[in-house]
Amino acid sequence: MPLEYDFDVPSVCPWCGFENEAMANMTGTERPTDGDVTMCMECGILGVVDTASPTGLRKPNPIERAEFLRDPDIKKMLWAWQIVDDQRRAARRRHSP
Ligand SMILES: [Zn+2]
Repeated sequence: MPLEYDFDVPSVCPWCGFENEAMANMTGTERPTDGDVTMCMECGILGVVDTASPTGLRKPNPIERAEFLRDPDIKKMLWAWQIVDDQRRAARRRHSP
């Protein structure tokens, strides 16, 4: 189910290969464009929108990564994702044989 600011922009995570159905711009509400940052819903790692890439995303370079990690909104999103992922992993452990 897409969130309010998710856009129907499929992409493949450059870190884990997960195919994300939608994409949100982590630094605004506009449709993500080249250079914007987004986060994979599978691994929680940041990716940079790159329409020239066949996957739609690329890994951030070191300068971009440092910039993203200083952004308070991005830090909040990473923190929230970590809580959700911890809960998801705990649920999987409870349901595994
Ligand atoms: Zn990923």
